[in-house]
Amino acid sequence: MRKQTTLKKSVSLSGTGLHSGKECTVKLCPADEFDGISFHRTDVIPGSGIINICAGAVSDTRLCTTLKNDHNTTVSTVEHLMAALYALGVDNLVIEVDGPEIPILDGSSQPWVELIDEAGLIKFDEPVKAIRVKKDISIKEGICMARVKPAAEFSLDIFVDYPHPYGKPTQRYYDGSEYEFRKEIAKARTFCMEKDVKNMQDLGLIKGGSIDCALVLMEDGTVSNSEGVRFEDELVRHKALDCFGDFFMAGYPIVGKFEVRLPGHELNNKLIRKLLSDEKNWGWK
Ligand SMILES: [Zn+2]
Repeated sequence: MRKQTTLKKSVSLSGTGLHSGKECTVKLCPADEFDGISFHRTDVIPGSGIINICAGAVSDTRLCTTLKNDHNTTVSTVEHLMAALYALGVDNLVIEVDGPEIPILDGSSQPWVELIDEAGLIKFDEPVKAIRVKKDISIKEGICMARVKPAAEFSLDIFVDYPHPYGKPTQRYYDGSEYEFRKEIAKARTFCMEKDVKNMQDLGLIKGGSIDCALVLMEDGTVSNSEGVRFEDELVRHKALDCFGDFFMAGYPIVGKFEVRLPGHELNNKLIRKLLSDEKNWGWK
């Protein structure tokens, strides 16, 4: 088992929240071994702003993942940062943020990967704690499915199929390695359908949305972004990225074989909650 890590130094960046449209700054700060990952809202009453990562803190999964603590303090759109932390093996971190939402940036994990690289990692003496899956657990909702089985290593088998030329039926297998994440997944952007943009605006969401923060799939089969797609299969890659972030919401890496079909944040969170709901399902590794 590898040793626990944190960042060598604090690093920060600023950007706009996709849904709130608010400008905010995120500061990633080193933490001690066994501290885990926590968000600290610096713009709320002192003592009410700490949100520790755990599957039970996930309170809303409409379009993005929102975490909430006992003081009803929330932080939204945490998943792309969480995916980068998971893949690069950052176990202990304080994430300070001066607003309700983590900036969407370019809609991928790449800016977070670059920020973590800028800080560098240090290792502690203690090995990382991980969750070992002991039973086959699954959630099925219509044609969507998420499942995890016992296995010696993490892996993700993912299938997507969307009504768009860039979303044709695609199956991919990922081993969750840092090398693979950096090369194949980190740059894949979040996406939405042209018709959904208006629906979301009507709901008061995506106030900070622009062509720079998501791939917009047009009804004529093209994408609206002038640079086009970053990968022909960018959609399945981004869905895999979301899975990494959603699974790390357990607070620890999970050792098991994941199989997902048309995954979403809500389904992923239900799977993790079901896994952790019974101590017969899992153990520490
Ligand atoms: Zn996403």
